[in-house]
Order: sequence, then C-alpha cells, then structure tokens
Amino acid sequence: MYFPHPIPYGRQHITEADVQAVTEALQSDFLTQGPKVAEFENRFAAYVGATYAVAVSNGTAALHLCTLALGVQSGHRVITTPITFAASANCILYCGGEVHFADIDPATALIDLKAVRRLLESQPKGYFHGLIPVDFAGLPVNLEEARKLADEFGLWLVEDAAHSPGGFFVDSQGIEQWCGNGKFADLSIFSFHPVKHIATGEGGMITTNRQDLYEKLLLLRTHGITKDPAKLLKSDGGWYYEMQTLGYNYRLPDMLTALGISQLQRANEGLARRRFLAARYNAAFANMAAVRPLATAPGHAYHLYVIQVEDRKGLYDFLRDRQIFAQVHYIPVHTMPYYQELGWNPSDFPRAEAYYARCLSIPMFPSLTDEEQQYVISSIQQFVK
Ligand SMILES: *Cc1c(COP(=O)(O)O)cnc(C)c1O
Repeated sequence: MYFPHPIPYGRQHITEADVQAVTEALQSDFLTQGPKVAEFENRFAAYVGATYAVAVSNGTAALHLCTLALGVQSGHRVITTPITFAASANCILYCGGEVHFADIDPATALIDLKAVRRLLESQPKGYFHGLIPVDFAGLPVNLEEARKLADEFGLWLVEDAAHSPGGFFVDSQGIEQWCGNGKFADLSIFSFHPVKHIATGEGGMITTNRQDLYEKLLLLRTHGITKDPAKLLKSDGGWYYEMQTLGYNYRLPDMLTALGISQLQRANEGLARRRFLAARYNAAFANMAAVRPLATAPGHAYHLYVIQVEDRKGLYDFLRDRQIFAQVHYIPVHTMPYYQELGWNPSDFPRAEAYYARCLSIPMFPSLTDEEQQYVISSIQQFVK
C-alpha cells in the first residue's frame, strides 16, 4: 500500500476554531500588541506552572532576550549541547559570549550532566557563567540536578524547552516538575514554529518565576522603552515614555497570539496523541533489533520520535522514495562551518557524532493517522529485513 500524499516528520494542526480565532483578532482594533498577548501569556504561564510568561516573535528571539537579560557579554562562557538547533548556541554569540559544549548521554541524546561537571571542574570557579540544557526531542532534562551543578559553580540556568511544553521530569521527592515551571531554571524558552507542539507560524515564549528578569524582558522586548508611570524617571505628560536600555522589537502580534490561545486549548490532546503514537512505535521497534529508539520517560513530550539505525542514509532515501519525509535532528552544532571557524573540530564530541551518524526522526505529529503510522512502521520493517 502506497500513500498518495507525502508524510512529513512533523506538521501543524489547524482547526476551524483556530481560523475563527485569527479572523476575530483581524477584525479587532489590535493587530500588533493588544489584549490577546496578556491573555496568551497568562494562559501559557498557567499551563506550565510558572509565575510569569513573556510572548516574543520566535524562539530564537526568546533565547536572545534570555542571554541579554542575564547580562551575557564579551568574556562570558556558556555551556550547551552540540545536539540541538543552532539557535540554542547562537544566542550566546549574539551577546558577544563564548560557546562551550559538553557531550551527550548516548541513551537519551541529552546533554550529559557528568560531562558538564568534568568541564566545569577543568577550570577555576567563575570561569563559566551559564548553562543552557535542551529538552531534546521532548525528553525533559533533570533540572534539579542541573540546578545543583549551576549553584555549585555559580552559573545561571536557561532551559531550552522548545521541544517539551507539557513535559515533566520526576524530582528527587517524586514530584512531577513541568518544563518551564521556573522552579529550577532562571528562564525557560518555548517556540511556536509550525512543527512544535503549539503553532503560531512564528512565535516564542519565555517563562520565569523571577520578577527582576521578567521586568527586564518586558523592557528588552520593546526597544528598552517603558510607559509605566512607576518606572519613569520623570513625567512630561500623558505622551511621555522613556527608553531606558537598548532593546529590540521582538513582539508577537495579536493575530498570532489569538492562534496560540486557540492551539493551547488543544495542547493536552495533542500531547496525548503524541504519547500514544510513541507507545505504538516503541512496541513495533521492540521487535526490530536493527532499530533503536532513544530512551523514554513518563514525562516525555515527544516533539520528535528518533530512531537509530546503522544505515541511516539508506533508510532515509528508502523512506523518501515512499513519500515519507524523515529528517535528521541534529547535525551537531560544533560541526557547522561557522563553528569550525570558531575553532571547534568535528571530532571534539565523539558521542554526539556517533549519534548523528545513526539518528533519524520519523513522523511524529498529532494529526498523523493510524494508517499513516502503520505505513511508516511497515516501510521501516521492510527496509531492515
Ligand atoms: C525551534 C527551536 C528553537 C528556535 O525556535 P524558532 O521559533 O524557530 O526561532 C530553539 N531551540 C530549539 C531546540 C528548537 O527546536
């Protein structure tokens, strides 16, 4: 059985209710920042269990505002993982900081906190300034452990949770800690790119429990300008505003937040479907020795479903011929030509490179039908036998 249409590795799910919500926003008085922004922020903060949320124009802008708010500058050294989207590392460079990498845990493809510790211990205290772990594929990093490490070495902690809204890890007390809840990380970021759990086209969010950072983020999002009477240095009249720091225009427009609010209402449904699909893949691959999925956990949010196979290119091409568009996540950041110019070598992180040689993300999105998933599974079965 061949499918008449291509099956991507991920895609958005837009309903009639979404279209209605955007249409209503278009007919309102606000196209850019209006009342929908605060509503989306409040609902999102409640969804992840954080005190504050700041909506921004995309996930990369969210990361940039984090490094700005944390004061990254020339001479600051920040650690992240090589297995991530380039933006997790680039946000350090935007502020003039230096990117350092720690290798991954091969079972999960998450940054290995033991490797981070070794790196931290290889230098005097104060040498490193921050840590940006990534909840890769939707598997949440143990932020309680990351926080302990950060406190021991005086680092700030930013969680790149672009893959994991709705995910959680279980802490040492047995409590489920939701991604982005602000308990351990100083700041967490999310993306609303179409392949992510919640789609607004372009869009992002930062969550935090720290009021000081929250106020900085609000300023930085809008040119460093405030109109808040409590914060103005003086007052010339009703028109008066002040630019108090160098900020950006990283706002998310009302039309897109309307879409975000509508999508957020279905987020749990989508997450449940992702987990259901993952369980079926897990069961299918348990019987295929040549196919190794990454480790799982109850709080996995399954942005991606990654398998590892020896002949990755062979499988990729085989699936492509059958209209199944798998993808590779990720080409290690330190092997990118730009990072090579900064002095990294392709062989610096052997576990990341070994993972890259075998990984493939197969279709994983809520609207993937049972028939489509069965077709994906049987195609992989045919390839490996
Ligand atoms: C998607 C993504 C980003 C960036 O988000 P954009 O909204 O595309 O700018 C950052 N980090 C990770 C891990 C991502 O997957």
